[in-house]
Amino acid sequence: MDIERLKASVTTVSGYPRPGIEFRDITSLLLHPEALRECVLRMAAPYREQAIDKIVAIEARGFIFGAALAMELGCGLVLARKPGKLPRPTYKASYALEYGEDSLHIHTDAIAPDERLLVVDDLIATGGTVAAVASLIDKFGATLCGAAFAIALQDLPGLAMLRERGIATHYVLSFNGE
Ligand code: AMP
Repeated sequence: MDIERLKASVTTVSGYPRPGIEFRDITSLLLHPEALRECVLRMAAPYREQAIDKIVAIEARGFIFGAALAMELGCGLVLARKPGKLPRPTYKASYALEYGEDSLHIHTDAIAPDERLLVVDDLIATGGTVAAVASLIDKFGATLCGAAFAIALQDLPGLAMLRERGIATHYVLSFNGE
C-alpha cells in the first residue's frame, strides 16, 4: 500500500475533543488489515538490525502498535499504564496535563538494566507522554534506543523536544495538530 492511501485511512475529526483540535483518529486505519500491516512494517523498518530487547508501549493506543511491533521484531512487550492498572509494584513518572497531572507506571521487574528499549505510541503531539516514559526508563538504568510513532504532528513541539533530549524518533505519517 502506498503512503498516500495509508494516510487516507486515518480519519480527521475537527474540534474533538475540543474546539481548535484536529483529532487524528486511527480507528479507521485499524479497520483495514492492509493499512495496519503496512503501518506496522513501516514502523518496524529502522529497528530490524538494532537488537531491541523490548518495546515499551504507552496506554492505550500505543498498545495496539506496540504489540504488533513486538511480534514483528521478535522482542518483548512492556506496558506503560495509567495509575491503578498494574497489580504488582511499579516505578512511576508524572507528567503535566493541561489541567493537573497524570502518571504512567511500569512493573519494577519488567525491565533489566542491560536491555535496549524502543518506546511506541500511536501519535506524538507535545511529547509530554513520551518524555515521562523516557524518565521512567531511566529509573531502570536501561538503554532507550528511540521512539516510534504511526503519526507525528509536525506543528507541535514533541519531535524537536525529543531530538533535543537525544531521543531518536521515527514516524510513518505526518499531520498537523491544529
Ligand atoms: P503528547 O503527550 O502531547 O505527545 O500526546 C500524545 C498522546 O495524546 C497520544 O497518545 C495521542 O493518542 C494523543 N493525542 C494528542 N493529540 C492528538 C491528536 N491531534 N489526535 C489524536 N490523538 C492525539
